[in-house]
Amino acid sequence: MANFCYKPFDEIEIYSNGDVYTCCPFYLPKGFFIGNIFRASSFDDIWYSPNAILLREKILNEDFSLCNTMICNKQYLYDSTYVLNPPYPRFVRFSYDDMCNVFCRYCRNKPGYCVNYKNFENEEIFKKIFIPLLKNALFVSVSTVGEITASKHSQDLIKKIIILNDKIKFDLLTNGLLFDEVFYNKLDLKNRIKKIEITLSAATEKTYNNIVRGSDFNRVLKNVEFISNEKKQGNIGELYLCFVVNRENYMEIPDFIELSLKYDCVAMFWELRNNNSDLCSNYLAQSVWCENNSEYDKFVDIIKFVRKNYPESSYIMPNLFTSLKSHSLLKKITRKLSLISIK
Ligand code: SF4
Ligand code: SF4
Repeated sequence: MANFCYKPFDEIEIYSNGDVYTCCPFYLPKGFFIGNIFRASSFDDIWYSPNAILLREKILNEDFSLCNTMICNKQYLYDSTYVLNPPYPRFVRFSYDDMCNVFCRYCRNKPGYCVNYKNFENEEIFKKIFIPLLKNALFVSVSTVGEITASKHSQDLIKKIIILNDKIKFDLLTNGLLFDEVFYNKLDLKNRIKKIEITLSAATEKTYNNIVRGSDFNRVLKNVEFISNEKKQGNIGELYLCFVVNRENYMEIPDFIELSLKYDCVAMFWELRNNNSDLCSNYLAQSVWCENNSEYDKFVDIIKFVRKNYPESSYIMPNLFTSLKSHSLLKKITRKLSLISIK
């Protein structure tokens, strides 16, 4: 049996303009979405669109020519018997609501707003598109580009989804500031979270305050402790502490792994993504993982230190270090997200 990427057969992601993709748009040719929820007359129009079929056809032939393999390392491969017209997806990502209560330097220059969710507060869209697309869903991500605790819209969406299908489990991404016991109970999230990722991007209060503006490091850690305890009791599936690597914080990578171990969770590292934020005004200076960055050698030393001192540790560095000189080093330090098994 051949290896296939499951994503075009089993996953969708919806963006703020209504475009629907089967995986990250950066991985595919520009504009290669499979449909748009505001233009489609049914979810079939999207799920069985010509672009969706074309991408599936290529993957079935193990042809990855539409895929940007420089940044997608096909980490989602697994054995499969997929077809061109598969059943509706089991993985659904609502990535359109960017409301947030803080303003990280690598994300935005003001708190709040952006608020694209209003276009989605249309009952017709919900009935015509969302209800069908959730028919087979098992895992749903909500508010992946904003903050779930800050958005009434995304919280209401979770409540509606639970009413529709209480077997669905959620993947949640949060800054942790307001993710406390009260919030957890208000949304009735016990035993409904498959995975939660908490973004800190620092191991110390000083660095945290420099990067995550408008938050409170100690309050976040208190909430991390609460979430960690829920995970220990088996009420939450997986817990990750996330770290967006840049020049301001990379020296704290080892301490961040220690912090994650303290809370019994996995440390996950991502590269800073180039955008219009403060921190990216000089992106090259921030890209310590690039050979031509003046901090590169120190960064490599840190990675070597991590490898030596945490050989079996629980951290993941997905696409981050592909530009490292020593690619074998990268392979050894990376615990791949490969061979995801889907039952
Ligand atoms: S191999 Fe990567 S780019 Fe291609 S469809 Fe799968 S996730 Fe997308
Ligand atoms: S917490 Fe997340 S969504 Fe909010 S500003 Fe920071 S990176 Fe952006």
